Amino acid sequence: MASRQFEVITRCTIFSQIANFCRKVLGKDEGEQSAESPIPARVAGQRRTLSRDQHPISRKEISENALKVLYRLNKGGYEAYLVGGGVRDLLLGKTPKDFDIATDATPEQIKALFSNCRLIGRRFRLAHIVFGRDVIEVATFRGHHHQVNTSKHVSAQSDEGMLLRDNVYGTIEEDAERRDFTVNALYYSAKDFTLHDFEGGLEDLAERKLELIGDPETRYREDPVRMLRAVRFAAKLDMTISPRTAAPIRELAPLLQDIPAARLFEETLKLFLAGDGLATYKLLREYGLFQQLFPQVAALFTPHGNSPYEQFIEQALIDTDTRVREDKRVTPAFLYATLLWGCVEARGRVLENESGLPWYDAFMLAINEVLDNQVRIIAVPRRFTTDVRDIWALQQRLTRRQGKHPERAMEHPKFRAAFDFLLLRNRVERGLGELASWWERYVASNPDVRPQLQREATRRPASGERGEARSHDGEKRSSNSRNRRRPRRRKPKAAE
Ligand code: ATP
Ligand code: MG
Repeated sequence: MASRQFEVITRCTIFSQIANFCRKVLGKDEGEQSAESPIPARVAGQRRTLSRDQHPISRKEISENALKVLYRLNKGGYEAYLVGGGVRDLLLGKTPKDFDIATDATPEQIKALFSNCRLIGRRFRLAHIVFGRDVIEVATFRGHHHQVNTSKHVSAQSDEGMLLRDNVYGTIEEDAERRDFTVNALYYSAKDFTLHDFEGGLEDLAERKLELIGDPETRYREDPVRMLRAVRFAAKLDMTISPRTAAPIRELAPLLQDIPAARLFEETLKLFLAGDGLATYKLLREYGLFQQLFPQVAALFTPHGNSPYEQFIEQALIDTDTRVREDKRVTPAFLYATLLWGCVEARGRVLENESGLPWYDAFMLAINEVLDNQVRIIAVPRRFTTDVRDIWALQQRLTRRQGKHPERAMEHPKFRAAFDFLLLRNRVERGLGELASWWERYVASNPDVRPQLQREATRRPASGERGEARSHDGEKRSSNSRNRRRPRRRKPKAAE
């Protein structure tokens, strides 16, 4: 109890420190007498340095491993700063997800200093200093590309202006200009505890405004993922994207098609599985970015955005956000299964009608088509698409409640996910109530009660078994085609 009180008091102190800091940055506390020295005014194009007593960042809030790396680099004679989300989130009173470091040491020099260092990346070469599961990312100050004429391993740009190699090194000032948003270009030194602002990030942070550094169109063309980052930070940090930063996004959204599918997979995890998935999804839709990532889903969107399928996606994201906040496990497979579910159902129906295939076969064919189309854009690794397939295929199996079907379904490694998926569907789709509540009872009951539940199911078959399952749009499926199953393959009789 005492420790909880202490925690609350500490957080309140941190928040009031931050609120004071923001007021000072914006020059709004002129009347107050303060023992601390005032924050130096910003002069455009110049570095502004804040001493320890002018900002609220304390070393206690920085991870030990990040501090170790900073100290070792300094001791080796290099400049080293905490930068990016680590500084930004501390100034906002949030716990940083990770700590990124920028230095004037080259990747090779960093490697020479740390035995636990791994150099990674070709497009953007980085050093990872590995402490068990904790990885501290160290980047060498980036410079401008036009200044040097170097090999394509160092700098390369596509005809559309996209940076294919970003390994030109430079000064800290250039590094700040090469970062994405002003609030991400704040540098903290563990040597003298100073905070450095080159791009006006402090004012933007205080005003909770996301401002892209430089000309937005050029910066998005250099790296279209910055559009996704704008939306992600706006949702996560509850900030607004400034009008000039937002203006080109809708038009440039198609540039995402040029991003390697593997990179987009990593980005989607940050977009949807970091705790602010719903807010991010809404912004992605608003800016026409979601449509580029999931064109098959977007094709089913409705003008008011409130079809059962769209409600299903929102409900899934609400649940995911809650799980993340409660520190529960979330998996990419469940996320992709929910996002693409409506596409599989819709495509299955088209295939069933056009080809006359039985529903089961049409459904399985639709699964393949939808996943194949999606992985061309976002490279969801096979281990996850296998689980997505299982979750979907089990939706069919869960409608069979006779004989050994339920027990066999429960033995499937993805049963739990498929069962959760069914419950989620039931919150939006019509006609699943009886089946969902039956499974809830079946799962919760003792094995000796289960046969009785199965007998009840025979007397009162669920809509899925009667072939009256309704899809997201509430449309009734024909009972004969829905129930027609692939003929069971008979075992060849042993030679007599
Ligand atoms: P978080 O880690 O909380 O997602 P972050 O801002 O730290 O947010 P990272 O991806 O860890 O994001 O990147 C660290 C820093 O590197 C950023 O703050 C930014 O300064 C810079 N950066 C990352 N990606 C880009 C990019 N595509 N273009 C320009 N700068 C970038
Ligand atoms: Mg980071």
